[in-house]
Parts: sequence; structure tokens; C-alpha cells
Amino acid sequence: MPVTTNELVDKFGRRIDYIRLSVTDRCDFRCVYCMTEDMTFLPRSQILSLEELYLVAKAFTELGVKRIRLTGGEPMVRTDVMSLIERLGALPGLEELNLTTNGAQLDKFATQLKAAGVNRINISIDSLDAERFKKISRVGKLEKVIAGIEAARSAAFDRIRLNSVIMRGYNEDEVIPLTDFALDKDIDIAFIEEMPLGEASDHNREDTTCSNDWVRNVIAEKYELLNSTAKTAGPSRYVQVAGSKSRIGFISPVTHNFCEDCNRVRVTVEGRLLLCLGNEHSVDLREILRDGAKSFEDLKQAIIASMDIKPERHYFYDKDHEQPVRLMNMTGG
Ligand code: SAM
Ligand code: SF4
Repeated sequence: MPVTTNELVDKFGRRIDYIRLSVTDRCDFRCVYCMTEDMTFLPRSQILSLEELYLVAKAFTELGVKRIRLTGGEPMVRTDVMSLIERLGALPGLEELNLTTNGAQLDKFATQLKAAGVNRINISIDSLDAERFKKISRVGKLEKVIAGIEAARSAAFDRIRLNSVIMRGYNEDEVIPLTDFALDKDIDIAFIEEMPLGEASDHNREDTTCSNDWVRNVIAEKYELLNSTAKTAGPSRYVQVAGSKSRIGFISPVTHNFCEDCNRVRVTVEGRLLLCLGNEHSVDLREILRDGAKSFEDLKQAIIASMDIKPERHYFYDKDHEQPVRLMNMTGG
């Protein structure tokens, strides 16, 4: 007997109204914390088609999901991704369509993204020094990302946020330059603690991970930080900088656990519905999508049933618990 509901609530009473949908595992960068240098990507047959991605998004919105964030890999490298984004932008019930990108192609796509209904955009940038930027991204060009940030500002998205992963030995001296840069451009910035998702090939994560308490103290030496009550859909905790429009976010999955108010799930580009970033609990939606005997309603029922296996919390760096073997590009950041 199918369950009739238009809400997704897990067994800990958390309401899921936000999904991160990965549209590709591929990327034109190879950031040291996210990928190995010689990545093997998924064959085409294993990844969801644009139509299948659309059906997954539609099923979730019919189950009360109000916000979708597109991610990857790098969403903008997926062939014809704009046609998907345009369809998602028109989904009934969807209040926010957001995108996380490395920014390298935003100079080309920002205006089209805005016209397609993208509300908020996060752009990753870990250094303002061209050589260092290249070392961290292994291949990226800083000037392309800066041009992308400017294009996003001109397109006037509802909000633009920079994402920076601060790592000891790579860029811990850039907390202030990156903050100054965001403030100067009237945009937000979030600092993300490096997470132990798969093994990093160039460093040992336990040596590089910087706590956000440390990052915050560095910023507080220069700026007056006012606690903000702003609550957003994601895991960021924000502070307001006195006298500025910009907010500074801290995403601290390693040192602070905000699992109790987790409102989101992820769908990988293989169609694996991941119930938690730090656990392997998942449901194979691709199998349902490709089974000729199953319907769109079956897809929705599988999503509803998945709520029962959403874990209570993650256990990053807890030796008594298995750590995820997925790299971030497979998880959908
Ligand atoms: N390619 C896009 C980008 O870089 O913004 C979207 C995908 S990327 C996986 C999403 C976010 O995850 C980026 O801000 C990136 O810095 C972050 N990220 C990747 N691997 C991470 C890790 N191991 N720990 C923390 N953040 C990570
Ligand atoms: Fe690509 Fe984003 Fe991962 Fe960097 S963080 S390798 S840009 S997917």
C-alpha cells in the first residue's frame, strides 16, 4: 500500500526540504582535497541522463523539497547542462535553485543561469595568488575564476558566496586576504573545514585540516564579528561583519556536529540517494528509473521509504566508526 505524503520526515523528526543534486562526477580542476591527480570518471552508461536527473528533482519537489543545489564534480562541464537547469527553474513548488561551481566558466554562463532561474551561487576559491591557486586546483587559472565572480556580480544573483577550504601548509595565511576580497565585493564567504572524504593523495588530511574556530579567531583580530541569527538552508553558521553587507559563514563538519537539524540529502550522479554526507547509507534510484516495470510513483515511494535509514549523525575522524571512502566529487559537495 503506497504511503501518501507530501513531506519527507526521518525517524528523528527531521524534515527534509533540501537536496543536493550532483550532475556530473567530472571536473576541469583537480583540487588536492577533492580529487586525486589521475582520476577515473564514470562511464556514460552509469550516470543519470539529463531526463533522469529531472525526474529525480521532480519527485523530490512533489515530496515537499523547496530547494535544490546543483553540484558535482563541476556542474558546468556537463554537456547541455543549461537545458536541465532551465527545466529545473520552472519546477512547480521549487523556491530556490542554487548552484555550486568552481567559477571557471561563469563568464560564459552567468547571464543564462540567472535567466534560467538560478537564485544563489557559490563559487569556490582557495587562493588569490595565481601560482598557489594552480597548486591547490592542480590545473585551474585564477584569472578565469575572478572573471567568473565578476560575471556573477553583474548578473545580480540573489546571493553570491565564495567557498574556501583553508588547509595548513597550503593557504592558511590567506584567511584575511580572502575575507577582504569578499568584503570589498559585497559578497559572502564561507570557510569549509576539510573533510575526510576518501584519501587525499598529496597530503595527510589530519595534518592540513584547520579548525574553523582558528579561522574565526584570525578574522576577529581584524574585524568586529556580530553573531547573526540568519538561518539558511545549508549547514553554514553565519556572522555579520560590522559595517559591511557581507556575511561570513563557517561550515565546520569536523569540529562541530550540526546533524541534529540536518534538513538535506544528496543524490549522486549515479542516482545513489545518500542519506548522510559521512555515512554510506543509500538507496539506488537509478535501478528504479531504469526498470521498465516501475513508475514515477515507485520512485517517490522509494524516496519516502529512504527516510527510515537516514543516520542520526556522521562520525568524522572517530576511529570506532568506518570513514567514507567516496571522494567529494562522487558525493556531490
Ligand atoms: N566543482 C564545484 C566547486 O568546486 O565548487 C562543485 C563541487 S565541489 C565538490 C563543492 C565544494 O566542496 C567546494 O566548495 C569544495 O571546495 C568542497 N570540497 C571538496 N572536497 C572537500 C573536502 N574533502 N572537504 C571539504 N570541502 C571539500
Ligand atoms: Fe572540481 Fe570542485 Fe572538486 Fe575542485 S572541488 S576538483 S573544482 S569538483
